[in-house]
Amino acid sequence: MKKLTHLPLITRLSKNVIRILGCNKGFMTLQGTNSYLVGTGNRRILIDTTEKKNANDYIKLLHRVLEEEKATIEHLLITHWHFDHLGAVNSVLNMLKTINTEIKSTVWKFSRTPNDKNSRNMENLFEWKQLRDKQIIEVEGAKLDVEYTPGHATDHASFMMEDEKILFSGDCILGEGTAVFEDLNAYIATLKKMLMMKPKVIYPGHGPIIENPENIINFYIENRLKRENDILNILEQNAKNNTLSELDIVNHLYTVMIIFSLYLYLLEYKMCNRKFDVFRKFHQRI
Ligand SMILES: [Zn+2]
Repeated sequence: MKKLTHLPLITRLSKNVIRILGCNKGFMTLQGTNSYLVGTGNRRILIDTTEKKNANDYIKLLHRVLEEEKATIEHLLITHWHFDHLGAVNSVLNMLKTINTEIKSTVWKFSRTPNDKNSRNMENLFEWKQLRDKQIIEVEGAKLDVEYTPGHATDHASFMMEDEKILFSGDCILGEGTAVFEDLNAYIATLKKMLMMKPKVIYPGHGPIIENPENIINFYIENRLKRENDILNILEQNAKNNTLSELDIVNHLYTVMIIFSLYLYLLEYKMCNRKFDVFRKFHQRI
């Protein structure tokens, strides 16, 4: 696996955004969940938190930043219900009560759809208000447009800072690697919607910021459509076999991927040898 880019625990990304890592580095979470403190005044927006098991370390960082900024959190926005984004919501709310009792913090997220097959309901562990598509959440120094962006999860929200053209993409687009999804059609529609938003930069749910969003979003769309075509081809080739299961399709896909990887490896090997030949001939001449 490619080595991940090093990210500091706390980074000021722009005049009104500070990134605080969730201290939950891992195979699925990359450098850890990115949480973003947004705004310039004493009432800020926080986008996402971290996992429950990493809450103590994360809260220390967040508390330090809030003290330095002389600020508290008025709006806590959750991009989606996955445990690495909302596992520390209660810890954040408890910490906020110790620094300011006057300002009430509101947690916001979209609801999951009734056909959502995932049984875990971690969002029921705290009180939250329902986001609306195109709603605006504003604090001093920052205005965020709420965008409903399902696909990775049925309740997924992204947030667009229209003035700076910064898109907080949650797990729809990652800073490194590619994101997984629950619903391909919804996911492709979301990616196309993001393309239309024309962000200048993406601040993702995991990994470094993305400076060339258009290329990356197009890459995601092409990659996903290619995978869909692979599945359709397998179904077509096996049309006579009525008992083709999901596992059969996965097995077929992985066989194709392994053969393709082997092909790339051999191609690279051949090219290296060719490079070596050119190098040797060059040396023979001088
Ligand atoms: Zn997720």
